[in-house]
Amino acid sequence: MGRREKSEEYRLEMIRHLKEKYQQAKPSEVLEAEKVIARYRESEARDRGAMARLRLQLPNENLCPECFYMHERESILHTIGSESGVDRFRCRECGYEIETTPRL
Ligand SMILES: [Zn+2]
Repeated sequence: MGRREKSEEYRLEMIRHLKEKYQQAKPSEVLEAEKVIARYRESEARDRGAMARLRLQLPNENLCPECFYMHERESILHTIGSESGVDRFRCRECGYEIETTPRL
């Protein structure tokens, strides 16, 4: 076999080898890495949305800031208690709580 035939044999062998390689399921570490990257991209997209909303002040003081900024939903804070001048509020959607004191 001459050099041309040897090269041709090599070429055909590599075609067969690479086709076979990518017809198989991806290695588990590659699948895992792809999942990690997908989760990172999702979290990055959520954070970009939150960053855009965080440029604005809360449109209504009765809204839960956690829901508004981080979950893109409008949920009202409900009074859960009031003692010695301190009012406590909680969001029924996410559980966020705040305490307010009267402005002096
Ligand atoms: Zn909330």
